[in-house]
Amino acid sequence: AVNPRVASLLYEVAPGTQVDVSGWVRSRRDSKGGFSFIELNDGSCMSNLQIIVDADVPNYEDSIKDVTTGASVRVTGELKESPGAKQRVEMQAKTLEVLGTADAESYPLQKKRHSFEFLREIAHLRPRTNTFGAIARVRNCVCRAIHDFFQERGFLNVQTPIITTSDCEGAGEMFTVTTLPPSTDGKPVDYTQDFFGKHASLTVSGQLEGEIYATAVGPIYTFGPTFRAENSHTTRHLAEFWMVEPEVPFCDLDGNMQLAEDFIKTIVRRCLDECAEDMQFFNDRIDKTVLETMNNILEHEFKRISYTEAVELILNSGKEWEYPVSWGSNLQAEHEKWLTEEHFKQPIIVFDYPRSIKPFYMYCNEDGKTVRAMDVLVPGVGEIIGGSQREHRLDVLEARFQECGLDPEEYWWYLDLRRYGSVPHAGFGLGLERMILLLTGMQNIRDVIPFPRTPNNAEF
Ligand code: ATP
Ligand code: MG
Ligand code: MG
Ligand code: MG
Repeated sequence: AVNPRVASLLYEVAPGTQVDVSGWVRSRRDSKGGFSFIELNDGSCMSNLQIIVDADVPNYEDSIKDVTTGASVRVTGELKESPGAKQRVEMQAKTLEVLGTADAESYPLQKKRHSFEFLREIAHLRPRTNTFGAIARVRNCVCRAIHDFFQERGFLNVQTPIITTSDCEGAGEMFTVTTLPPSTDGKPVDYTQDFFGKHASLTVSGQLEGEIYATAVGPIYTFGPTFRAENSHTTRHLAEFWMVEPEVPFCDLDGNMQLAEDFIKTIVRRCLDECAEDMQFFNDRIDKTVLETMNNILEHEFKRISYTEAVELILNSGKEWEYPVSWGSNLQAEHEKWLTEEHFKQPIIVFDYPRSIKPFYMYCNEDGKTVRAMDVLVPGVGEIIGGSQREHRLDVLEARFQECGLDPEEYWWYLDLRRYGSVPHAGFGLGLERMILLLTGMQNIRDVIPFPRTPNNAEF
């Protein structure tokens, strides 16, 4: 007997084949005629395999009572054409073995729908639900699409360090890494010497180190865990998330915006192609606009507007804002929502932000007021990508260090990249979980990462 996964039994394997399949029971129904139906799921796809177990299967009486929701079983038998219209095939069992029972009284995942809040408390069992199985498959598809997108374009995957000293964003959101024992005498621990006598933190972005490789080996991307000590309780921020960061030499802001748009569209197309069943599920059960939004993304060029234009639109909108905007202030979630969901009704790219609200490394425009930054904003999520053309002119960068109150000594190596063979270059960061929110229509970022890390959650 062959033992493929349920996905290939349902969609590929020919009726008549002897098969051997294992998985978890979603439900069991006993018929009056002395046989049972099992709905079996093994995580390979959303749909269950229907298995018919007749009373003449060895040990039927003994085994079938343990075939309860959540139990794991192994079944051998024959794949048959299904008489029902719902599915192509079903399985006729010849042997049934219960591998692990699941007490029906205490198993937390019963047939009814559970709230996401409840499921967050049982992060060890939630991947056994339809929603979380689908999220895991979509996430996997996105990760493959990310590598393929860059690999096909000749980008090298560079592993930037997780333990680092550079606070790329200058936002004070770094987790300290310490080798020091806790204080015993009540005096505070000297966290300037926490890492074997020096200071170190968990990375908030691989960009600065990525620039080192981009200006040596050509286009690169980093893709890994990223940490921000955000003591915020929004539905868009995690303390640990995954970020993809391409960095491209000989590239300006326009090239960067084009790359970002192609990148998002490619990921969307891949998920529609390869996770069609799961994407349909999200559309039917989570957010009725998911597929429409995906088509909208694929069909339109992302609208590009300058920060100055965005502020004007917001000021002329006639709306009352919780956070009033004036030129120089940060755009808030409410503004980004209005721009993408009500005004343009599509993804937009906002570029040329005020220099005063952006980090030191962004290219300073000739107007003396703005930098070549760009944010990609999408309906339902808001900011999904942040990027910029980098300042590659040594004198301008040195002046920026002074303006930002940064110590050039600490960044001597970063300045060296401008001192020796400097080239224009650009890059961006995409938050993987924000991308998954967009694709699935899920509302809370805690539900699109297997093990969310937030201020009050680091258990498992
Ligand atoms: P935000 O304005 O939402 O706080 P940011 O501007 O601080 O984001 P960037 O430094 O531009 O974020 O990082 C690049 C991308 O990484 C963001 O566009 C977003 O997709 C993602 N990202 C940033 N912070 C987080 C976080 N705490 N949790 C999840 N994703 C994040
Ligand atoms: Mg932030
Ligand atoms: Mg931002
Ligand atoms: Mg940003």
